[in-house]
Amino acid sequence: MMLRTRYDVVLLLGAPGAGKGTQARVLATALDVPHVASGDLLREHRSRGTALGQAARAYMDRGDLVPDDLVVGIILDRLRQGDAHRGALLDGFPRTLAQAAVLDERLGEHNGAVRSAVYVEVSLRVLVERLSGRWLCRACHASYHEVFNPSAAGDRCAACGGDLYQRPDDKRNVVENRIHVYLRDTRPVIDHYGALGVLQRVDGDRGIEAVRADILAAAARPPLLYQPTLSTAAVVRG
Ligand SMILES: [Zn+2]
Repeated sequence: MMLRTRYDVVLLLGAPGAGKGTQARVLATALDVPHVASGDLLREHRSRGTALGQAARAYMDRGDLVPDDLVVGIILDRLRQGDAHRGALLDGFPRTLAQAAVLDERLGEHNGAVRSAVYVEVSLRVLVERLSGRWLCRACHASYHEVFNPSAAGDRCAACGGDLYQRPDDKRNVVENRIHVYLRDTRPVIDHYGALGVLQRVDGDRGIEAVRADILAAAARPPLLYQPTLSTAAVVRG
Protein backbone atom coordinates (compact mmCIF):
# COMPACT_ATOMS: atom_id res chain seq x y z
CA MET A 1 0.00 0.00 0.00
CA MET A 2 1.30 3.43 -0.90
CA LEU A 3 1.44 6.13 1.72
CA ARG A 4 2.06 9.43 -0.06
CA THR A 5 2.03 12.02 2.70
CA ARG A 6 2.77 12.01 6.41
CA TYR A 7 -0.98 12.42 6.93
CA ASP A 8 -1.68 9.10 5.20
CA VAL A 9 -2.37 6.31 7.66
CA VAL A 10 -3.00 2.59 7.69
CA LEU A 11 -5.44 1.36 10.32
CA LEU A 12 -5.23 -1.94 12.11
CA LEU A 13 -8.70 -2.88 13.35
CA GLY A 14 -9.64 -5.84 15.48
CA ALA A 15 -11.57 -6.75 18.63
CA PRO A 16 -9.81 -7.16 21.97
CA GLY A 17 -8.08 -10.55 21.69
CA ALA A 18 -7.56 -10.32 17.92
CA GLY A 19 -3.78 -10.24 18.56
CA LYS A 20 -3.41 -6.74 17.18
CA GLY A 21 -0.51 -5.66 19.38
CA THR A 22 1.84 -8.28 18.01
CA GLN A 23 0.66 -7.92 14.42
CA ALA A 24 0.83 -4.10 14.51
CA ARG A 25 4.58 -4.17 15.15
CA VAL A 26 5.10 -6.59 12.26
CA LEU A 27 2.97 -4.52 9.89
CA ALA A 28 4.61 -1.21 10.89
CA THR A 29 8.05 -2.72 10.29
CA ALA A 30 6.97 -4.07 6.88
CA LEU A 31 5.63 -0.65 5.89
CA ASP A 32 8.63 1.14 7.46
CA VAL A 33 6.37 3.53 9.37
CA PRO A 34 5.92 4.09 13.12
CA HIS A 35 3.35 2.10 15.08
CA VAL A 36 1.09 4.69 16.70
CA ALA A 37 -1.15 3.36 19.49
CA SER A 38 -3.66 6.03 20.52
CA GLY A 39 -3.91 4.79 24.12
CA ASP A 40 -0.12 4.93 24.60
CA LEU A 41 0.02 8.42 23.06
CA LEU A 42 -2.61 9.72 25.44
CA ARG A 43 -0.81 8.28 28.47
CA GLU A 44 2.48 9.72 27.24
CA HIS A 45 1.04 13.24 26.82
CA ARG A 46 -0.52 13.07 30.27
CA SER A 47 2.69 11.96 31.95
CA ARG A 48 4.74 14.63 30.13
CA GLY A 49 2.14 17.25 31.07
CA THR A 50 1.87 18.71 27.56
CA ALA A 51 -0.95 21.12 26.74
CA LEU A 52 -2.81 18.32 24.93
CA GLY A 53 -2.16 15.96 27.85
CA GLN A 54 -3.45 18.48 30.39
CA ALA A 55 -6.57 19.07 28.32
CA ALA A 56 -7.17 15.30 28.17
CA ARG A 57 -6.55 14.93 31.91
CA ALA A 58 -9.17 17.58 32.70
CA TYR A 59 -11.83 15.44 31.00
CA MET A 60 -10.60 12.19 32.56
CA ASP A 61 -10.47 13.69 36.07
CA ARG A 62 -14.15 14.57 35.68
CA GLY A 63 -14.85 10.99 34.59
CA ASP A 64 -15.66 12.14 31.05
CA LEU A 65 -14.45 10.63 27.79
CA VAL A 66 -11.68 12.53 26.04
CA PRO A 67 -13.36 14.26 23.06
CA ASP A 68 -12.64 12.71 19.66
CA ASP A 69 -11.22 15.96 18.31
CA LEU A 70 -8.65 16.09 21.12
CA VAL A 71 -7.56 12.48 20.52
CA VAL A 72 -7.23 13.16 16.78
CA GLY A 73 -5.24 16.32 17.63
CA ILE A 74 -2.80 14.15 19.59
CA ILE A 75 -2.54 11.73 16.67
CA LEU A 76 -1.85 14.57 14.20
CA ASP A 77 0.81 15.93 16.54
CA ARG A 78 2.47 12.49 16.42
CA LEU A 79 2.31 12.43 12.59
CA ARG A 80 4.36 15.67 12.52
CA GLN A 81 7.36 13.95 14.15
CA GLY A 82 10.30 13.08 11.92
CA ASP A 83 9.90 9.30 11.87
CA ALA A 84 6.34 9.63 10.49
CA HIS A 85 7.37 11.38 7.27
CA ARG A 86 5.93 8.46 5.27
CA GLY A 87 2.77 8.20 7.36
CA ALA A 88 1.98 5.83 10.21
CA LEU A 89 0.19 2.70 11.29
CA LEU A 90 -2.65 3.67 13.60
CA ASP A 91 -3.65 1.12 16.25
CA GLY A 92 -6.65 1.39 18.58
CA PHE A 93 -8.37 4.27 16.82
CA PRO A 94 -11.00 4.92 15.52
CA ARG A 95 -13.34 2.74 17.60
CA THR A 96 -16.56 4.51 16.59
CA LEU A 97 -18.02 5.95 13.41
CA ALA A 98 -17.96 9.45 14.97
CA GLN A 99 -14.21 9.09 15.61
CA ALA A 100 -13.67 7.87 12.04
CA ALA A 101 -15.47 10.96 10.71
CA VAL A 102 -13.24 13.32 12.75
CA LEU A 103 -10.10 11.42 11.74
CA ASP A 104 -11.01 11.44 8.02
CA GLU A 105 -11.79 15.15 8.12
CA ARG A 106 -8.61 16.21 9.94
CA LEU A 107 -6.35 14.03 7.75
CA GLY A 108 -8.12 15.41 4.68
CA GLU A 109 -7.24 18.97 5.74
CA HIS A 110 -3.60 17.96 5.07
CA ASN A 111 -4.35 16.01 1.86
CA GLY A 112 -3.99 12.78 3.80
CA ALA A 113 -6.44 9.93 4.29
CA VAL A 114 -6.91 6.45 5.67
CA ARG A 115 -5.26 4.61 2.77
CA SER A 116 -5.93 1.14 4.05
CA ALA A 117 -7.85 -0.41 6.94
CA VAL A 118 -6.71 -3.93 7.80
CA TYR A 119 -9.39 -5.73 9.83
CA VAL A 120 -8.26 -8.81 11.71
CA GLU A 121 -11.55 -10.72 11.91
CA VAL A 122 -11.86 -13.29 14.71
CA SER A 123 -14.94 -15.27 15.74
CA LEU A 124 -16.51 -14.60 19.14
CA ARG A 125 -15.75 -18.14 20.35
CA VAL A 126 -12.05 -17.78 19.56
CA LEU A 127 -11.84 -14.27 21.06
CA VAL A 128 -13.30 -15.49 24.35
CA GLU A 129 -10.96 -18.50 24.41
CA ARG A 130 -7.92 -16.29 23.84
CA LEU A 131 -8.75 -13.48 26.27
CA SER A 132 -9.79 -15.73 29.12
CA GLY A 133 -6.33 -17.35 29.06
CA ARG A 134 -4.29 -14.17 28.84
CA TRP A 135 -1.52 -13.39 31.35
CA LEU A 136 0.52 -10.19 31.50
CA CYS A 137 3.92 -9.35 32.97
CA ARG A 138 3.75 -6.81 35.80
CA ALA A 139 7.22 -5.50 35.00
CA CYS A 140 7.50 -5.28 31.20
CA HIS A 141 3.84 -5.80 30.16
CA ALA A 142 4.71 -8.76 27.92
CA SER A 143 1.58 -10.74 27.06
CA TYR A 144 1.30 -14.54 27.28
CA HIS A 145 -1.43 -17.11 26.83
CA GLU A 146 -1.69 -20.35 28.79
CA VAL A 147 -2.56 -22.29 25.60
CA PHE A 148 -1.26 -20.39 22.55
CA ASN A 149 1.79 -18.54 23.85
CA PRO A 150 2.90 -19.81 27.26
CA SER A 151 5.92 -18.23 28.93
CA ALA A 152 9.04 -20.37 28.52
CA ALA A 153 9.76 -19.51 32.16
CA GLY A 154 6.59 -21.15 33.52
CA ASP A 155 4.73 -18.77 35.84
CA ARG A 156 7.38 -16.03 35.39
CA CYS A 157 7.93 -13.68 32.42
CA ALA A 158 10.28 -15.25 29.86
CA ALA A 159 11.55 -11.80 28.84
CA CYS A 160 12.38 -10.26 32.23
CA GLY A 161 11.54 -12.80 34.96
CA GLY A 162 8.72 -10.59 36.28
CA ASP A 163 5.44 -11.72 37.93
CA LEU A 164 2.63 -12.77 35.61
CA TYR A 165 -0.95 -11.80 36.47
CA GLN A 166 -4.44 -12.02 34.96
CA ARG A 167 -6.48 -8.84 34.67
CA PRO A 168 -9.89 -8.99 36.40
CA ASP A 169 -11.52 -7.92 33.13
CA ASP A 170 -10.02 -10.95 31.37
CA LYS A 171 -12.60 -13.14 33.18
CA ARG A 172 -14.96 -14.93 30.83
CA ASN A 173 -18.26 -13.01 31.30
CA VAL A 174 -16.47 -9.65 31.35
CA VAL A 175 -14.58 -10.68 28.21
CA GLU A 176 -17.81 -11.53 26.39
CA ASN A 177 -19.28 -8.15 27.25
CA ARG A 178 -16.16 -6.27 26.13
CA ILE A 179 -16.24 -8.01 22.77
CA HIS A 180 -19.95 -7.30 22.25
CA VAL A 181 -19.38 -3.61 23.01
CA TYR A 182 -16.43 -3.50 20.61
CA LEU A 183 -18.38 -5.12 17.77
CA ARG A 184 -21.41 -2.90 18.36
CA ASP A 185 -19.30 0.28 18.19
CA THR A 186 -16.73 -0.70 15.59
CA ARG A 187 -18.80 -2.59 12.99
CA PRO A 188 -19.96 0.76 11.53
CA VAL A 189 -16.29 1.81 11.24
CA ILE A 190 -15.49 -1.38 9.30
CA ASP A 191 -18.51 -0.83 7.04
CA HIS A 192 -17.46 2.80 6.52
CA TYR A 193 -13.95 1.95 5.26
CA GLY A 194 -15.43 -0.95 3.28
CA ALA A 195 -17.69 1.53 1.46
CA LEU A 196 -14.63 3.73 0.77
CA GLY A 197 -12.91 0.72 -0.85
CA VAL A 198 -9.90 0.63 1.49
CA LEU A 199 -10.87 -2.28 3.77
CA GLN A 200 -8.76 -5.44 3.78
CA ARG A 201 -10.15 -8.37 5.78
CA VAL A 202 -7.75 -10.87 7.32
CA ASP A 203 -9.05 -14.15 8.77
CA GLY A 204 -7.70 -13.99 12.31
CA ASP A 205 -9.14 -17.34 13.47
CA ARG A 206 -5.81 -19.06 12.86
CA GLY A 207 -2.32 -19.20 14.34
CA ILE A 208 -0.15 -16.09 14.69
CA GLU A 209 2.13 -17.06 11.78
CA ALA A 210 -0.72 -17.61 9.29
CA VAL A 211 -2.38 -14.32 10.29
CA ARG A 212 0.96 -12.50 10.03
CA ALA A 213 1.49 -13.83 6.49
CA ASP A 214 -1.96 -12.59 5.45
CA ILE A 215 -1.43 -9.16 7.04
CA LEU A 216 1.87 -8.78 5.20
CA ALA A 217 0.17 -9.83 1.95
CA ALA A 218 -2.56 -7.25 2.62
CA ALA A 219 0.15 -4.63 3.20
CA ALA A 220 1.70 -5.41 -0.18
CA ARG A 221 -1.64 -5.25 -1.99
CA PRO A 222 -2.96 -1.91 -3.20
CA PRO A 223 -6.37 -0.96 -1.77
CA LEU A 224 -9.26 -1.71 -4.13
CA LEU A 225 -9.77 2.00 -4.74
CA TYR A 226 -6.31 2.39 -6.25
CA GLN A 227 -6.21 -0.69 -8.43
CA PRO A 228 -5.23 0.35 -11.96
CA THR A 229 -8.28 -1.05 -13.74
CA LEU A 230 -7.55 0.73 -17.03
CA SER A 231 -4.02 -0.59 -17.44
CA THR A 232 -5.19 -4.09 -16.41
CA ALA A 233 -7.78 -3.95 -19.19
CA ALA A 234 -5.06 -2.85 -21.63
CA VAL A 235 -2.87 -5.80 -20.64
CA VAL A 236 -5.74 -8.23 -21.15
CA ARG A 237 -6.49 -6.74 -24.58
CA GLY A 238 -2.83 -6.74 -25.63
ZN1 LIG B 1 8.41 -9.19 31.70
